[in-house]
Amino acid sequence: MPEPTLRVCALYPDLMNIYADRGNLTVFERRCTWRGMGFELAGAGIGDEIDPDAHDLFYLGGGQDRDQALCARDLATVKRDALHAAAGRGAVVFAVCGGLQLLGHGYEMEDERLPGVGLVDLDTKREDGPRLLGNIAISLDLPGGPAMLAGFENHAGRTYLGEGTAPLGHVIEGHGNNGRDGSEGVRGGAHGTVVGTYMHGPLLPKNTAFADWLTRTALGVDALPPLDDALEDAAHAEAARAAGVGA
Ligand code: GLN
Repeated sequence: MPEPTLRVCALYPDLMNIYADRGNLTVFERRCTWRGMGFELAGAGIGDEIDPDAHDLFYLGGGQDRDQALCARDLATVKRDALHAAAGRGAVVFAVCGGLQLLGHGYEMEDERLPGVGLVDLDTKREDGPRLLGNIAISLDLPGGPAMLAGFENHAGRTYLGEGTAPLGHVIEGHGNNGRDGSEGVRGGAHGTVVGTYMHGPLLPKNTAFADWLTRTALGVDALPPLDDALEDAAHAEAARAAGVGA
């Protein structure tokens, strides 16, 4: 059987790309290519309609408040129904930092409230206090996924999950969604395929097992052809051991 093709749609790739979050797309591309799989990348900017069935994974990177303000209304109007339809059939919507903040109901800034796309029950506020900044590690419990992720966070907004909404993981070191409740990111949607995190790095080069979990979930397959991740696996095993996480 031929290997499948991962079809990715990057939302606002020029505006939502802080800390080189576009590097996450490179990881998807390289790992598909190394495996002999296909990889297709499309981009959708402001005003562009998207086809919910044409992509397996929709990606929204991080952005500063002013970049988010440019995208938020478009996301909540032009792209809203298509993203709900995509998540409803089990496509992955993967969002980082400023992208995570736009997945929920809205983002309350100092003098303006940005609308969210309403894929998950969360809300974000800019509050007094320092930026939540620094290295971060989280533990997580994903079926067939890694036990922990390592990254970097830098956000002024604080995100609060609605009751019954699951975080992506729990903070081992760092701040997470709001610096208070230990939650980090979100995982929701009808099929658990709407995934958000505050973690940059970019995230996926540091956490290749998570890139593979996203790829498998987007394609609806149980396994992918193996790659030699001995170095990454050893680094993660050591970090997990030090943190007392996982097997
Ligand atoms: N603008 C958002 C904040 O500061 C997100 C920034 C980011 O994507 N790093 O809260």
